[in-house]
Amino acid sequence: MSIAVAIDGPVGAGKSSIAKECAKRLGFIYVDTGAMYRCIGLFCDRNGVDMDDPVRVSAALSHISLDVKIKDGTQHIYLNGYDVSDEIRLPEISMAASKVSAIPAVRAFLLQLQRDMAESRDVIMDGRDIGTVVLPNATVKIYLTADAEVRAKRRYDELIAKGTAVSYESVLMDLKQRDHNDMTREIAPLKQADDAVLADTTELDFEGSCDLLVRIIKEKAEIREFFRKIVCLSMHIKYRIKLIGGDNRPYKNGIKGGYIIACNHQDYGDPPLIAAVNKAHFSFMAKIELFEKNKFFAWLITKCGAFP
Ligand code: C5P
Repeated sequence: MSIAVAIDGPVGAGKSSIAKECAKRLGFIYVDTGAMYRCIGLFCDRNGVDMDDPVRVSAALSHISLDVKIKDGTQHIYLNGYDVSDEIRLPEISMAASKVSAIPAVRAFLLQLQRDMAESRDVIMDGRDIGTVVLPNATVKIYLTADAEVRAKRRYDELIAKGTAVSYESVLMDLKQRDHNDMTREIAPLKQADDAVLADTTELDFEGSCDLLVRIIKEKAEIREFFRKIVCLSMHIKYRIKLIGGDNRPYKNGIKGGYIIACNHQDYGDPPLIAAVNKAHFSFMAKIELFEKNKFFAWLITKCGAFP
């Protein structure tokens, strides 16, 4: 079963650099969703699309094609065929990304692309709504934050190192404005998911932050693996499972994207049985009555990734 790690948090919390290093240490794929919003902001900026007008931005989406490729372990993002991985980091594009990200059509446009990237592989995905919207069943959810002044100083140092002329005050103001936009927008606002672990890196340096996250991820993944093994073992003992036709499963044939397994079943034990013999990341759609009768049972199956 693949592992999905969702890292959300405010601007400049170090999500991308820390997530990238953690992915390297753990051998996971790193997916930077902010880069996708930046591409849309870049397209609008360069083509004079009024970003305060959701209708015009939505219309522009039909002229945008995004492609994400991993080269030497690093994500490269292509906007209409051009690698724009560096250009999207310009300060004016940060604000453009923040503006377009509040538009529902933009979020809907990127949602499936983001979910597809987490399909059948171990990923660390960072953004603002990964644990709450994009991957609500992620194995591990982390809310990464630090004091605003510390985040601004880190972002300022980064920009200066790249040769961008900025003042610390303007970086801090920009950061607070983008945080405010992200936290107060109507759709998919930035917030800590109920089941996310809070990681505050105000007092930590880069290495310390990476160590902390790797520890959280390993602990959670080990707990899940432990329960998965118990479930698998008990299923094998109880039912003496024999998997027939497993090679017909779509991901075995290199087919990407989601798929639905519609199964007849006789027992409440059958859904975990299906999960026990499949490696893909699963969610269970269960009948609504199961969520209504018993609060504890509803909590338990929701924790296992079921939805009504
Ligand atoms: O993380 P980064 O600063 O690159 O993201 C750029 C902008 O994209 C953010 O300011 C935020 O408004 C938006 N974003 C988002 N949801 C995500 C990732 C980024 O709204 N999952």
